[in-house]
Amino acid sequence: MAEPQRKEVPLPEDVGADECLTSYTHIYSPDLLKDQVAFITGGGSGIGLRIAEIFMRHGCDTVIASRNLDKLKEAAKKLSAATGRRCLPLCIDVRQPESIATAVDETLKELGRVDILINNAAGNFLCPASSLSFNAFKTVMEIDTMGTFNTSKVVYEKWFQNNGGNIVNISATLGYKGQGLQVHAGSAKAANDAMTKHLAVEWGPSGVRVNTVAPGPISGTEGFRRLGGPRGEAAGAFKSIPLQRAGNKTEMAHCTLFLASRASSYVTGAILVADGGSWLTSANDVSMLLGIASSKSAKL
Ligand code: NAP
Repeated sequence: MAEPQRKEVPLPEDVGADECLTSYTHIYSPDLLKDQVAFITGGGSGIGLRIAEIFMRHGCDTVIASRNLDKLKEAAKKLSAATGRRCLPLCIDVRQPESIATAVDETLKELGRVDILINNAAGNFLCPASSLSFNAFKTVMEIDTMGTFNTSKVVYEKWFQNNGGNIVNISATLGYKGQGLQVHAGSAKAANDAMTKHLAVEWGPSGVRVNTVAPGPISGTEGFRRLGGPRGEAAGAFKSIPLQRAGNKTEMAHCTLFLASRASSYVTGAILVADGGSWLTSANDVSMLLGIASSKSAKL
């Protein structure tokens, strides 16, 4: 008898660099976010850039906000050219609430509303706890955790409180097993996962849903490069992942789109783990991980 052939599921299109897709096949209705506005922190690169693009391909205008305005302007140009929607690049540091307030005022002036907030900005690197400086730990907490709170609070007070809205936080699975060399990011994201639930409880009555996507290793990102992804992939480490591969940025954008849209209208306080089952089976062997870390300069 012939061997059963496994049916390959086609993956959504992606490109490795911080570029827009050369082709795209809609899974959701192309007008799912028609005429909505999304404010995306860290939207000028990696997963955040792809989220911006996929949202725009579903009829949304976007604000991409982070520290490097030149990078954002270039990304905004590409995003608008690829999708025909508006993209406003704005300079913020999520550690500075005044910079966020100015950007949200500018958003309301230029685009008239905010329907969706994506808290995606983050910093990460590999470092053993014993070598991690106090300042490095504090900086990651400030960007990932305080930054998520600061941005959520500013957008809530300026718009969501009276108009409702959707918040999606981009988290990670690092804290689930205490991933070696990542006490800083794992702790920060664990706090964010708790924050997702606290804010879902408090802001639900104002019509605000708060959810999270927790990606696994995602190819074509700075995070993937810094955290040893290409090296792990070459060494066959991804064969231990139940789905046998890294995820791609478009897959993360599709999960985020689900949670940010009416497709998930009765979901709040949820954490959608999008990692191919990785955290269930991935290695957490500190001496092996130290081998990876020693090949990198891992200081903030
Ligand atoms: P990335 O390209 O490095 O994106 C991070 C973004 O955050 C950058 O655009 C950066 O822009 C912005 N940012 C950093 N510090 C900031 C600050 N203080 N204020 C405002 N913006 C700031 O990384 P990525 O790999 O796509 O990661 C995106 C998200 O996915 C992160 O939350 C990450 O933790 C999560 N994640 C990624 C992976 C992965 O495999 N890549 C896995 C799990 C979770 P500026 O430099 O212009 O500020």
